[in-house]
Amino acid sequence: MSNVRVRIAPSPTGFLHIGTAKTALINWLFARKTGGTFILRLEDTDVERSKDEYAEAMCEGLQWLGIDWDEGPEFGGVPEKGALGPYKQSMRKDLYIQEANRLLAEGKAYKCFCTKEELDAMREKAAAEKRPPRYEGPWRDASSEQVAAMGDAPYAVRFRVPEGVTEILDLVQGTVRIENKEIDDFIIVKPNGEPLFHLAVVVDDGLMQITHVMRGDDHLTNAVRHVLLFKALGYALPQFAHLPMVLDETGKKYSKRLHGANVLDWRDDGYLPETIINYVVLLGWTPAEEGRELFSREELIEAFTLDRLGQSAAKFDLKKLQWLNGQHIRRLTPESLRDRVLPILQKAGLDALSKSPEWLAKMAAICQEKIPTLNDIVAYTDFFFRDVEAYEEKAVNKHFKAEGAVERVSALREMMASVATWDHDTLKAAYEAKAAESGFSLGQFVHPTRLALTGKSVGPGLFELAELLGKDTCLARMDKAIAYIKSL
Ligand code: GLU
Repeated sequence: MSNVRVRIAPSPTGFLHIGTAKTALINWLFARKTGGTFILRLEDTDVERSKDEYAEAMCEGLQWLGIDWDEGPEFGGVPEKGALGPYKQSMRKDLYIQEANRLLAEGKAYKCFCTKEELDAMREKAAAEKRPPRYEGPWRDASSEQVAAMGDAPYAVRFRVPEGVTEILDLVQGTVRIENKEIDDFIIVKPNGEPLFHLAVVVDDGLMQITHVMRGDDHLTNAVRHVLLFKALGYALPQFAHLPMVLDETGKKYSKRLHGANVLDWRDDGYLPETIINYVVLLGWTPAEEGRELFSREELIEAFTLDRLGQSAAKFDLKKLQWLNGQHIRRLTPESLRDRVLPILQKAGLDALSKSPEWLAKMAAICQEKIPTLNDIVAYTDFFFRDVEAYEEKAVNKHFKAEGAVERVSALREMMASVATWDHDTLKAAYEAKAAESGFSLGQFVHPTRLALTGKSVGPGLFELAELLGKDTCLARMDKAIAYIKSL
């Protein structure tokens, strides 16, 4: 195992957002590529908004994508994993207070007894003078006697920002240099004893020995405070990579109210997890192999390198996602496709278990090249599980109301009845021969037959589906269609 230790640190205040999934994926790929460790840490300090069911939903989203964690909290009956836990911030409060006390003892932080009124006044004064608000209270330089004189009065712990310049060497954003005097002495523990985000995240990353902090670029402005805290606490400084957000199709930040913001929406829509990880990584990373878009999970791990992470945010492109899904469906084995569509068929009320596993694999195989999402399997195969009750109106006008339709469909029915063996090749040869001798196009035979057998104008290849449907059913459906055409 390498020493690479990376993490995803979501706040469980909602579902797994597509942007968080992208960040998780990049960290996970890097860990898997380098033989490092991928950690899941729940930043659940916001007690008002954090909920166990959100944590569960996030874990479920990661699990669906196949982003497995080596260290992380208890989930779904699997106990917490890892030696540097706990992996929920709500269980780590003592560590934050211990580290804040260390900073206080070393003079790197100080107790600030300013009241809310005093702080408001400072803020108003700064606003009136049109400058950013700064802490200008007396406690930065207070003597130990002054502090002792305050007795049990509540205080905030403020970080004493040192003089100088801070640099963030960001793998994506380049070097960001900030004068420390731009940074106010910020609070790390509130007067009620609650540690704040900056302290918690740095203590966690430091004590969990994180080597690379890769997260959304909304945290870039926080990173300077984090670098200062890393140094003050004496932790090894990780590498930083601040990754661009995912944008929607109009170029705006992908709102959590939009369909698809929740990763599991894609599962409901019949997308494969393989597709989503392939697609999502391409929103922030370009492969070395120019123009290549299709990657399996293993191929992504193989190809992934940090130096090809992009700086600008990519727009979501549903067309490309749909195309990729079709490609990934084609890459499955028929058995795997069968297993994935089985619950979808059952949910649609189709009695799929009435067929053998071998038959269902054949059915999956003949749809594999055609269906854009797993959910399309229902429209492509429902006629296998129930009789044709209606025919598509447009197709009826075109194929059943055509001149000589009854004669043609009847002739096809007789031909079907007389074929020597009921299989794809024999049926195809018979249809082709009949078309050649009759002067009709093959389509003029195929389309009405498809309509008779399935009630539809699109679906799997006709001869494949006819073979699977079986001779008796096909003949019965041809008879029914002939009766119907006569009634028109
Ligand atoms: N909890 C933060 C978020 O969800 C992540 C902070 C971090 O990765 O450092 O945005």
